[in-house]
Amino acid sequence: MSQINREELKRISDKNMDTFYNYLRLESVSAQGRQIKETAKAVQNLIENIGGEAKVLELEDAHPVVYGFFEAGPAGDSDKTLLFYDHYDVQPEDPLDEWNTAPFEPTVKDGILYARGVSDNKANLMARINAIEAYKNTAAGLPVNVKFFVEGEEEIGSPHVDEYLKAYTDLFAADVCIWESGSKDSEERLGVSAGIKGIAYYEARVDSADIDMHSSLAAIADNSAWRLVQALASMRNVKNEITIDGFYDIMTPPTELEKKVLDQMPFDPDASKQTYGLKQPLITDQLPYSPKEALAFYPTLTISGLLSGYTGPGTKTVLPRQAMAKIDVRLVPGYEPDKVTQILRNHLDKHGFEDVELELITSVMPFRTNLEDPFVKTVMDSAKKVYGEDKVVLEPNSAGTGPMYGFGKYLNVPILGSGTEWSKSGAHAPNENIRLADFYQGVEHMVVLLDSYKHSRK
Ligand SMILES: [Zn+2]
Repeated sequence: MSQINREELKRISDKNMDTFYNYLRLESVSAQGRQIKETAKAVQNLIENIGGEAKVLELEDAHPVVYGFFEAGPAGDSDKTLLFYDHYDVQPEDPLDEWNTAPFEPTVKDGILYARGVSDNKANLMARINAIEAYKNTAAGLPVNVKFFVEGEEEIGSPHVDEYLKAYTDLFAADVCIWESGSKDSEERLGVSAGIKGIAYYEARVDSADIDMHSSLAAIADNSAWRLVQALASMRNVKNEITIDGFYDIMTPPTELEKKVLDQMPFDPDASKQTYGLKQPLITDQLPYSPKEALAFYPTLTISGLLSGYTGPGTKTVLPRQAMAKIDVRLVPGYEPDKVTQILRNHLDKHGFEDVELELITSVMPFRTNLEDPFVKTVMDSAKKVYGEDKVVLEPNSAGTGPMYGFGKYLNVPILGSGTEWSKSGAHAPNENIRLADFYQGVEHMVVLLDSYKHSRK
């Protein structure tokens, strides 16, 4: 255990609250390019003000990435380096009229701190800074070397993370990585995630004539809307099975350990039904795998949008010449976006839909940490010390997407998440918040984790 007590951590965290609030006041909305440079500079200051080395790195047409470095102290192990991944950008604050407080004016009410970006992910960066400062105040100093990779494009899909990692592989070299986030669930259990799904996002288009036609011609002419929905319908049957030829063949099946870990993970399917007011049974009711397995281990195929013909008020009889669908495929290990594109294309061609154009708009690779890696146990044990033995849940794979893959590829590090969010943090939504008690606990977890990592086998 570390020698820093809880009161000291609270003292440091409270002392830094003004700095934290100023960081939250920065309107670092990446989608709109607001206050990006200022916020990168603020992150540099956060690191330098407690004795770290920081650099603002820039690539053309990309928001800056902030590099940070703290050397292990006199009693630390300088052969070990832990990398923190965070992002300083936030989602747009609208709809503004649904906020009870000003989104960029941090406000505390009943122990809850409200501000845009506080849960996703500014509080986590601040908790890590506070933990490091606590160690810097001791004679022993930091238990291991610490680096930071703080990007400004996470909320727009991290389009340049891999480029940065490729250009600065040596600078960011590390042994292990702690991801930006981690949330308590409705039962107050902290989720520690070891992986993310990737995504392949497509636009499918059909162009069936040079002009829209009077719909009396439907007697002889096909139309784009029908072509497109028929093509889409060939990809999934009414039992919700994905029927794209060869789609499941490329999946890397989960290991026995991954299955065991998932088994231990609590999951309440009825909670999802309630939360979202689902009007249909879960699609897994008809599938040969459980909702939990679906969320962690299986790919998805989603029609995210459809556009064709006349959709205004009243009637207009017309044969639409164009139709378009947005399709997203969540990827698990084994699925690479280009491979998925090829499988979709082959399927369409084989089923007589050569005319359906398919364009890959954006993609992110999946990533899952090897659960046999000793760092998994280090993170879990350290979290249990702070949160309680039965209050930490290892998730082999989260259902969402993030830019982990490049860190695995270029830095070859195991990656696990931990953070200060709770079940009602409302990331991306109005009234985004964290509970201050969770924040202090998050600082403590970072302190215990750094010490545990020093004492773990590499
Ligand atoms: Zn986010």
